[in-house]
Amino acid sequence: MSRYIGPVCRLCRRETAASKTGEKIKLFLKGDRCLSRKCAVERRGTAPGQKTAGKQRTKISEYGRQLREKQKMRRYYGVHEAQFENYFREAARVPGQTGRTFLQLLERRLDNVVYRLNLATSRSQARQLVTHRHFRVNGKLVNVPSYIVRAGDVISIGERSLKSPVFQANVEVADTRRPPEWLEWNAQDKTAKVVALPSREQIDTPVDEQLIVEYYSR
Ligand code: SF4
Repeated sequence: MSRYIGPVCRLCRRETAASKTGEKIKLFLKGDRCLSRKCAVERRGTAPGQKTAGKQRTKISEYGRQLREKQKMRRYYGVHEAQFENYFREAARVPGQTGRTFLQLLERRLDNVVYRLNLATSRSQARQLVTHRHFRVNGKLVNVPSYIVRAGDVISIGERSLKSPVFQANVEVADTRRPPEWLEWNAQDKTAKVVALPSREQIDTPVDEQLIVEYYSR
C-alpha cells in the first residue's frame, strides 16, 4: 500500500493554517524535532505553498471544516484513506457513539500503542519497528502495524531486538516516561499490558471526531 513520503511538516502547517482559533496544531510526525525549536509550526505557522504564505485564510465552509478534521486525524495516525474509511465503517456497526469507537480503534493499533509506550519517537518509527518483527503480542510475533490490541493483551519485545542499540535507547525512554493510563509498562520485564480499552478522556488526540462522523454521514 502506498504511503505519503513527502515533507511531513507541511501537513502540520496545513492544519495550523486551517485552525479557526489560530491554535498551533502539531501532528507529531517527526519525533524529537516536534518538541524542539526547529519545529516548522513554531517557526512559521502559515499554510505551505507560496501563494498562501503569510496570508489570512478565507472563511471555511462547514464541509471544509469536516474535511480538514478528517485529514488531520488521518495524518495524525498515518493511515491511508481507504483504511481510514474502513475503520469508520467498522465503528459505525458498533452500537454506541461512532466517533468515540472510531477514535478508539485507531488508538488501539499496534503501531500507535508502541508509540504511546514511548518505545518509538514517532508513529512512523513505531510502524517500522513493528514491520521489522520486533514485537510480540501474548507471546506471538506480530508484524502488522494495524493489529488491534485488546484489553489484557501483553506486548513484549523480541530477545534479540532488546539487545539492539535502537531499542536500548527507546526502552530507556520508556522506563522514564509514563504511558497513558490504559497502558502499563513493566520496566523490569520490558513488557507492556493493555489494562483496559482507552476512554475518550484518555486519548489526547486533538480532533473533534463528531465532525468526522458528519463528514462520512453526508
Ligand atoms: Fe509537525 Fe513535528 Fe514537523 Fe513540528 S516538527 S511541523 S510537530 S511534524
